[in-house]
Amino acid sequence: MNTCGFIDAAVQESLDAIGEALDENGKVVVTGCLGVKHDLIKSTHPKVLAITGPHDTPAVMSAVHEHLPKPHDPYTDLIGVKLTPPHYAYLKISEGCNHRCTFCIIPSMRGDLVSRPIAEVMQEAENLVKAGVKELLVISQDTSAYGVDVKYRTGFVRGRPTKTRMTELCRALGELGVWVRLHYVYPYPHVDEVIPLMAEGRILPYLDVPFQHASPRILKLMKRPASAEKVLERIRAWRAICPDITIRSTFIVGFPGETEAEFAELLSFLEEAQLDRVGCFAYSPVEGAAANALPEAVPEPLKEERRARFMTLQERISADKLKAKIGRTLKVLVDEPGVGRSSADAPEIDGVVKFRGGNAAEFRNVLIERADAHDLFGRVQ
Ligand code: SF4
Repeated sequence: MNTCGFIDAAVQESLDAIGEALDENGKVVVTGCLGVKHDLIKSTHPKVLAITGPHDTPAVMSAVHEHLPKPHDPYTDLIGVKLTPPHYAYLKISEGCNHRCTFCIIPSMRGDLVSRPIAEVMQEAENLVKAGVKELLVISQDTSAYGVDVKYRTGFVRGRPTKTRMTELCRALGELGVWVRLHYVYPYPHVDEVIPLMAEGRILPYLDVPFQHASPRILKLMKRPASAEKVLERIRAWRAICPDITIRSTFIVGFPGETEAEFAELLSFLEEAQLDRVGCFAYSPVEGAAANALPEAVPEPLKEERRARFMTLQERISADKLKAKIGRTLKVLVDEPGVGRSSADAPEIDGVVKFRGGNAAEFRNVLIERADAHDLFGRVQ
Protein backbone atom coordinates (compact mmCIF):
# COMPACT_ATOMS: atom_id res chain seq x y z
CA MET A 1 0.00 0.00 0.00
CA ASN A 2 1.51 3.31 -1.08
CA THR A 3 0.57 6.26 1.10
CA CYS A 4 0.74 10.02 0.87
CA GLY A 5 1.62 12.08 3.94
CA PHE A 6 1.82 15.62 2.71
CA ILE A 7 -1.36 16.95 4.25
CA ASP A 8 -3.29 15.82 7.30
CA ALA A 9 -6.47 14.96 5.35
CA ALA A 10 -4.34 12.63 3.25
CA VAL A 11 -2.81 11.10 6.39
CA GLN A 12 -6.28 10.24 7.70
CA GLU A 13 -7.32 8.93 4.27
CA SER A 14 -4.21 6.77 4.14
CA LEU A 15 -4.85 5.40 7.64
CA ASP A 16 -8.44 4.58 6.66
CA ALA A 17 -7.23 2.89 3.49
CA ILE A 18 -4.78 0.77 5.51
CA GLY A 19 -7.72 -0.33 7.73
CA GLU A 20 -9.79 -1.24 4.67
CA ALA A 21 -6.91 -3.19 3.14
CA LEU A 22 -6.40 -5.10 6.39
CA ASP A 23 -10.10 -5.98 6.50
CA GLU A 24 -10.13 -7.13 2.88
CA ASN A 25 -6.77 -8.81 2.60
CA GLY A 26 -5.27 -9.27 6.05
CA LYS A 27 -1.70 -8.87 4.74
CA VAL A 28 -0.56 -5.27 4.37
CA VAL A 29 2.87 -3.68 3.90
CA VAL A 30 2.80 0.11 4.25
CA THR A 31 5.14 2.20 2.12
CA GLY A 32 5.30 5.80 0.90
CA CYS A 33 5.43 9.15 2.68
CA LEU A 34 3.26 8.02 5.57
CA GLY A 35 5.82 5.29 6.27
CA VAL A 36 7.93 7.89 8.11
CA LYS A 37 5.13 8.09 10.71
CA HIS A 38 5.94 4.57 11.92
CA ASP A 39 4.57 4.97 15.48
CA LEU A 40 1.27 6.46 14.31
CA ILE A 41 0.67 3.56 11.90
CA LYS A 42 1.70 0.88 14.42
CA SER A 43 -0.54 2.30 17.13
CA THR A 44 -3.53 2.65 14.76
CA HIS A 45 -3.04 -0.64 12.91
CA PRO A 46 -0.86 -3.04 14.94
CA LYS A 47 -1.49 -5.85 12.39
CA VAL A 48 0.44 -4.34 9.44
CA LEU A 49 3.28 -6.66 8.46
CA ALA A 50 5.92 -4.02 7.73
CA ILE A 51 6.31 -0.27 7.32
CA THR A 52 8.85 1.35 5.03
CA GLY A 53 9.54 4.98 4.17
CA PRO A 54 9.21 6.52 0.71
CA HIS A 55 11.35 5.32 -2.20
CA ASP A 56 12.48 2.17 -0.46
CA THR A 57 11.77 -0.59 -2.97
CA PRO A 58 14.33 -3.03 -1.48
CA ALA A 59 12.62 -2.86 1.95
CA VAL A 60 9.18 -3.36 0.35
CA MET A 61 10.45 -6.31 -1.66
CA SER A 62 12.09 -7.97 1.31
CA ALA A 63 8.91 -7.51 3.40
CA VAL A 64 6.83 -9.00 0.56
CA HIS A 65 9.19 -11.94 0.11
CA GLU A 66 9.29 -12.56 3.84
CA HIS A 67 5.51 -12.87 4.05
CA LEU A 68 4.69 -14.32 0.61
CA PRO A 69 6.61 -16.99 -1.27
CA LYS A 70 8.28 -15.46 -4.35
CA PRO A 71 6.53 -16.67 -7.54
CA HIS A 72 8.58 -18.27 -10.30
CA ASP A 73 7.41 -16.45 -13.36
CA PRO A 74 9.74 -15.05 -15.97
CA TYR A 75 7.57 -11.97 -16.50
CA THR A 76 6.89 -11.02 -12.90
CA ASP A 77 10.52 -11.74 -12.04
CA LEU A 78 11.48 -9.26 -14.72
CA ILE A 79 9.22 -6.49 -13.55
CA GLY A 80 9.15 -7.02 -9.80
CA VAL A 81 5.90 -6.85 -7.84
CA LYS A 82 3.00 -4.94 -9.35
CA LEU A 83 0.63 -3.50 -6.81
CA THR A 84 -2.31 -2.78 -9.15
CA PRO A 85 -4.72 -5.01 -11.11
CA PRO A 86 -2.81 -6.67 -13.97
CA HIS A 87 -4.21 -4.47 -16.76
CA TYR A 88 -2.92 -1.12 -15.58
CA ALA A 89 0.32 -0.06 -13.94
CA TYR A 90 1.94 3.04 -12.52
CA LEU A 91 5.18 4.03 -14.21
CA LYS A 92 7.31 6.15 -11.91
CA ILE A 93 9.67 8.33 -13.94
CA SER A 94 11.38 10.32 -11.21
CA GLU A 95 11.62 10.75 -7.48
CA GLY A 96 11.79 13.93 -5.40
CA CYS A 97 11.03 17.51 -6.36
CA ASN A 98 12.92 20.77 -6.89
CA HIS A 99 10.00 22.96 -5.78
CA ARG A 100 9.33 24.08 -2.26
CA CYS A 101 5.57 24.57 -2.06
CA THR A 102 4.99 25.88 1.44
CA PHE A 103 2.22 23.40 2.30
CA CYS A 104 4.23 20.33 1.27
CA ILE A 105 6.92 18.29 3.02
CA ILE A 106 7.67 15.89 0.19
CA PRO A 107 10.98 17.55 -0.79
CA SER A 108 12.20 17.33 2.81
CA MET A 109 11.37 13.60 2.83
CA ARG A 110 12.32 12.60 -0.70
CA GLY A 111 14.90 15.22 -1.65
CA ASP A 112 15.43 17.03 -4.95
CA LEU A 113 14.34 15.68 -8.33
CA VAL A 114 16.14 12.56 -9.51
CA SER A 115 14.97 11.42 -12.97
CA ARG A 116 15.24 7.79 -13.95
CA PRO A 117 17.19 7.21 -17.18
CA ILE A 118 14.83 7.16 -20.16
CA ALA A 119 16.15 3.78 -21.33
CA GLU A 120 15.33 2.24 -17.94
CA VAL A 121 11.84 3.78 -17.86
CA MET A 122 11.11 2.55 -21.38
CA GLN A 123 12.44 -0.93 -20.60
CA GLU A 124 10.10 -1.15 -17.63
CA ALA A 125 7.20 0.13 -19.77
CA GLU A 126 7.91 -2.47 -22.47
CA ASN A 127 8.10 -5.26 -19.88
CA LEU A 128 4.78 -4.18 -18.42
CA VAL A 129 3.14 -4.16 -21.84
CA LYS A 130 4.58 -7.63 -22.57
CA ALA A 131 3.10 -8.80 -19.26
CA GLY A 132 -0.38 -7.70 -20.42
CA VAL A 133 -0.68 -4.15 -19.10
CA LYS A 134 -3.12 -2.10 -21.20
CA GLU A 135 -2.74 1.26 -19.50
CA LEU A 136 0.37 2.99 -18.18
CA LEU A 137 -0.08 5.78 -15.65
CA VAL A 138 2.95 8.06 -15.67
CA ILE A 139 3.64 9.38 -12.18
CA SER A 140 6.24 11.41 -10.31
CA GLN A 141 6.12 14.49 -8.10
CA ASP A 142 6.48 16.76 -11.14
CA THR A 143 6.17 14.95 -14.46
CA SER A 144 6.81 18.06 -16.56
CA ALA A 145 10.24 18.49 -14.88
CA TYR A 146 11.39 15.05 -16.07
CA GLY A 147 15.06 15.23 -17.05
CA VAL A 148 15.76 18.75 -15.73
CA ASP A 149 18.22 17.33 -13.18
CA VAL A 150 20.22 15.47 -15.86
CA LYS A 151 20.03 18.38 -18.32
CA TYR A 152 17.79 16.29 -20.59
CA ARG A 153 20.63 13.79 -21.13
CA THR A 154 20.30 11.64 -24.25
CA GLY A 155 19.75 7.92 -23.68
CA PHE A 156 18.99 5.11 -26.11
CA VAL A 157 15.53 3.66 -26.63
CA ARG A 158 15.47 0.70 -29.02
CA GLY A 159 18.78 1.93 -30.42
CA ARG A 160 17.46 5.45 -31.06
CA PRO A 161 18.99 8.47 -29.27
CA THR A 162 16.21 9.88 -27.09
CA LYS A 163 16.32 12.82 -24.68
CA THR A 164 15.34 12.38 -21.02
CA ARG A 165 12.45 14.80 -21.42
CA MET A 166 8.66 14.63 -21.05
CA THR A 167 7.79 15.17 -24.72
CA GLU A 168 10.28 12.57 -25.95
CA LEU A 169 9.13 10.13 -23.26
CA CYS A 170 5.49 10.60 -24.31
CA ARG A 171 6.39 10.03 -27.94
CA ALA A 172 8.24 6.80 -27.08
CA LEU A 173 5.48 5.55 -24.78
CA GLY A 174 2.92 6.41 -27.48
CA GLU A 175 4.53 3.79 -29.73
CA LEU A 176 3.78 0.92 -27.33
CA GLY A 177 0.14 0.59 -28.42
CA VAL A 178 -1.38 0.94 -24.94
CA TRP A 179 -3.13 3.76 -23.11
CA VAL A 180 -0.70 6.27 -21.63
CA ARG A 181 -2.04 8.68 -19.03
CA LEU A 182 -0.08 11.61 -17.57
CA HIS A 183 -0.31 12.65 -13.92
CA TYR A 184 1.15 15.61 -11.98
CA VAL A 185 1.97 17.84 -14.91
CA TYR A 186 2.68 21.51 -14.21
CA PRO A 187 1.61 23.99 -16.87
CA TYR A 188 5.12 24.89 -18.04
CA PRO A 189 5.34 26.13 -21.64
CA HIS A 190 6.74 22.84 -22.98
CA VAL A 191 3.60 21.01 -21.82
CA ASP A 192 1.99 22.48 -24.95
CA GLU A 193 4.16 20.08 -26.97
CA VAL A 194 2.33 16.98 -25.71
CA ILE A 195 -1.16 18.24 -26.58
CA PRO A 196 -0.75 17.42 -30.31
CA LEU A 197 0.31 13.89 -29.30
CA MET A 198 -3.02 13.66 -27.48
CA ALA A 199 -4.92 15.02 -30.48
CA GLU A 200 -3.22 12.41 -32.71
CA GLY A 201 -4.29 9.62 -30.32
CA ARG A 202 -0.72 8.62 -29.35
CA ILE A 203 -1.32 9.23 -25.65
CA LEU A 204 -4.60 9.69 -23.82
CA PRO A 205 -6.15 13.17 -24.02
CA TYR A 206 -5.92 13.53 -20.25
CA LEU A 207 -3.91 16.00 -18.23
CA ASP A 208 -3.70 15.97 -14.46
CA VAL A 209 -2.52 19.48 -13.56
CA PRO A 210 -2.56 20.42 -9.87
CA PHE A 211 -3.39 24.16 -10.04
CA GLN A 212 -4.06 24.43 -6.24
CA HIS A 213 -5.44 27.99 -6.42
CA ALA A 214 -6.18 30.84 -8.82
CA SER A 215 -5.34 33.94 -6.78
CA PRO A 216 -1.83 35.17 -7.70
CA ARG A 217 -1.20 36.26 -4.10
CA ILE A 218 -2.16 32.88 -2.64
CA LEU A 219 -0.15 31.04 -5.30
CA LYS A 220 2.83 33.18 -4.33
CA LEU A 221 2.33 32.37 -0.65
CA MET A 222 2.11 28.71 -1.63
CA LYS A 223 5.32 29.13 -3.70
CA ARG A 224 3.72 27.29 -6.56
CA PRO A 225 5.92 26.69 -9.59
CA ALA A 226 3.52 28.17 -12.17
CA SER A 227 1.60 31.44 -12.19
CA ALA A 228 -2.15 31.58 -12.75
CA GLU A 229 -2.16 34.51 -15.16
CA LYS A 230 -1.98 32.64 -18.42
CA VAL A 231 -3.61 29.42 -17.24
CA LEU A 232 -7.05 30.12 -18.70
CA GLU A 233 -5.48 31.11 -22.01
CA ARG A 234 -3.43 27.92 -22.02
CA ILE A 235 -6.47 25.76 -21.26
CA ARG A 236 -8.31 27.39 -24.16
CA ALA A 237 -5.37 26.73 -26.47
CA TRP A 238 -5.14 23.07 -25.35
CA ARG A 239 -8.84 22.58 -26.05
CA ALA A 240 -8.53 24.21 -29.46
CA ILE A 241 -5.84 21.65 -30.41
CA CYS A 242 -7.45 18.68 -28.65
CA PRO A 243 -11.18 19.30 -28.05
CA ASP A 244 -11.56 15.96 -26.29
CA ILE A 245 -8.96 16.68 -23.62
CA THR A 246 -9.93 15.89 -20.02
CA ILE A 247 -8.34 18.26 -17.52
CA ARG A 248 -8.15 17.12 -13.90
CA SER A 249 -6.87 19.29 -11.09
CA THR A 250 -6.66 19.64 -7.33
CA PHE A 251 -7.13 22.74 -5.19
CA ILE A 252 -6.60 23.82 -1.60
CA VAL A 253 -9.11 26.17 0.00
CA GLY A 254 -8.69 28.00 3.30
CA PHE A 255 -4.93 28.48 2.88
CA PRO A 256 -3.58 30.89 5.56
CA GLY A 257 -4.55 34.46 4.69
CA GLU A 258 -7.09 33.48 1.97
CA THR A 259 -9.67 36.28 1.92
CA GLU A 260 -13.27 36.00 0.76
CA ALA A 261 -12.31 37.96 -2.36
CA GLU A 262 -9.47 35.55 -3.14
CA PHE A 263 -11.76 32.59 -2.62
CA ALA A 264 -14.29 34.24 -4.97
CA GLU A 265 -11.47 34.60 -7.49
CA LEU A 266 -10.93 30.85 -7.25
CA LEU A 267 -14.65 30.18 -7.82
CA SER A 268 -14.76 32.38 -10.90
CA PHE A 269 -11.64 30.65 -12.23
CA LEU A 270 -13.42 27.34 -11.75
CA GLU A 271 -16.50 28.61 -13.56
CA GLU A 272 -14.42 29.88 -16.43
CA ALA A 273 -12.01 26.94 -16.71
CA GLN A 274 -14.79 24.30 -16.80
CA LEU A 275 -12.39 21.59 -15.64
CA ASP A 276 -13.57 18.04 -16.05
CA ARG A 277 -12.35 16.47 -12.81
CA VAL A 278 -11.51 18.32 -9.63
CA GLY A 279 -10.40 17.38 -6.12
CA CYS A 280 -10.51 19.90 -3.28
CA PHE A 281 -8.86 19.85 0.15
CA ALA A 282 -9.48 22.21 3.04
CA TYR A 283 -6.00 23.38 4.05
CA SER A 284 -4.60 21.50 7.04
CA PRO A 285 -1.19 22.25 8.50
CA VAL A 286 1.21 19.33 8.26
CA GLU A 287 4.09 19.05 10.68
CA GLY A 288 7.23 20.60 9.21
CA ALA A 289 5.52 22.61 6.42
CA ALA A 290 6.64 26.23 5.96
CA ALA A 291 3.03 27.42 5.56
CA ASN A 292 2.43 26.75 9.27
CA ALA A 293 4.33 29.96 10.04
CA LEU A 294 2.06 32.11 7.84
CA PRO A 295 -0.28 34.51 9.65
CA GLU A 296 -4.09 34.70 9.47
CA ALA A 297 -5.06 31.04 9.62
CA VAL A 298 -8.58 30.55 8.27
CA PRO A 299 -10.93 29.19 10.99
CA GLU A 300 -11.90 25.54 10.54
CA PRO A 301 -15.67 26.09 9.97
CA LEU A 302 -14.91 28.71 7.32
CA LYS A 303 -12.50 26.36 5.53
CA GLU A 304 -15.17 23.67 5.48
CA GLU A 305 -17.80 26.13 4.28
CA ARG A 306 -15.53 27.21 1.42
CA ARG A 307 -14.80 23.62 0.51
CA ALA A 308 -18.51 22.86 0.39
CA ARG A 309 -19.20 25.93 -1.82
CA PHE A 310 -16.33 24.95 -4.09
CA MET A 311 -17.59 21.37 -4.44
CA THR A 312 -21.19 22.45 -5.08
CA LEU A 313 -20.04 24.58 -8.00
CA GLN A 314 -17.73 21.89 -9.35
CA GLU A 315 -20.38 19.18 -9.07
CA ARG A 316 -22.64 21.23 -11.32
CA ILE A 317 -19.82 21.73 -13.83
CA SER A 318 -18.90 18.01 -13.75
CA ALA A 319 -22.53 16.95 -14.10
CA ASP A 320 -22.98 19.23 -17.14
CA LYS A 321 -19.78 17.96 -18.72
CA LEU A 322 -20.79 14.33 -18.21
CA LYS A 323 -24.31 15.00 -19.49
CA ALA A 324 -22.80 16.28 -22.72
CA LYS A 325 -21.40 12.78 -23.31
CA ILE A 326 -24.84 11.16 -23.50
CA GLY A 327 -25.34 9.72 -26.98
CA ARG A 328 -21.61 9.32 -27.65
CA THR A 329 -19.87 5.97 -27.98
CA LEU A 330 -16.76 5.81 -25.81
CA LYS A 331 -13.90 3.35 -25.82
CA VAL A 332 -13.70 1.86 -22.35
CA LEU A 333 -11.07 -0.29 -20.63
CA VAL A 334 -12.99 -2.81 -18.53
CA ASP A 335 -11.75 -3.03 -14.91
CA GLU A 336 -14.26 -5.69 -13.89
CA PRO A 337 -17.46 -7.00 -15.48
CA GLY A 338 -19.88 -4.07 -15.72
CA VAL A 339 -17.35 -1.36 -14.78
CA GLY A 340 -14.77 0.35 -16.94
CA ARG A 341 -13.06 3.63 -17.60
CA SER A 342 -12.89 5.89 -20.63
CA SER A 343 -9.94 8.11 -21.52
CA ALA A 344 -11.42 10.67 -19.11
CA ASP A 345 -11.19 8.41 -16.06
CA ALA A 346 -8.02 7.61 -14.16
CA PRO A 347 -8.31 4.62 -11.83
CA GLU A 348 -9.25 5.28 -8.22
CA ILE A 349 -9.53 9.08 -8.47
CA ASP A 350 -12.08 9.72 -11.25
CA GLY A 351 -15.51 8.35 -12.11
CA VAL A 352 -16.28 5.17 -14.04
CA VAL A 353 -18.48 3.96 -16.88
CA LYS A 354 -21.07 1.33 -15.90
CA PHE A 355 -22.71 -1.14 -18.29
CA ARG A 356 -23.72 -4.79 -18.50
CA GLY A 357 -21.08 -7.37 -19.38
CA GLY A 358 -17.45 -7.13 -20.43
CA ASN A 359 -14.39 -8.88 -19.02
CA ALA A 360 -11.53 -7.30 -17.09
CA ALA A 361 -8.68 -5.97 -19.23
CA GLU A 362 -10.59 -5.81 -22.53
CA PHE A 363 -11.52 -2.69 -24.46
CA ARG A 364 -15.21 -2.26 -25.30
CA ASN A 365 -17.19 0.48 -27.00
CA VAL A 366 -20.00 1.75 -24.80
CA LEU A 367 -22.92 3.91 -25.93
CA ILE A 368 -23.54 6.42 -23.13
CA GLU A 369 -27.21 6.63 -22.12
CA ARG A 370 -27.17 8.35 -18.73
CA ALA A 371 -24.91 10.40 -16.45
CA ASP A 372 -24.78 11.65 -12.88
CA ALA A 373 -22.26 14.05 -11.31
CA HIS A 374 -19.47 11.43 -11.31
CA ASP A 375 -20.20 8.42 -13.48
CA LEU A 376 -21.58 7.46 -16.87
CA PHE A 377 -23.99 4.62 -17.63
CA GLY A 378 -24.38 2.92 -20.99
CA ARG A 379 -24.69 -0.10 -23.23
CA VAL A 380 -21.91 -2.18 -24.78
CA GLN A 381 -21.98 -1.92 -28.58
S1 SF4 B 1 5.56 20.52 -6.67
FE1 SF4 B 1 5.13 21.34 -4.64
S2 SF4 B 1 3.39 20.08 -3.90
FE2 SF4 B 1 4.35 18.96 -5.56
S3 SF4 B 1 5.85 17.62 -4.54
FE3 SF4 B 1 6.93 19.48 -5.20
S4 SF4 B 1 6.90 20.77 -3.38
FE4 SF4 B 1 5.32 19.21 -3.08
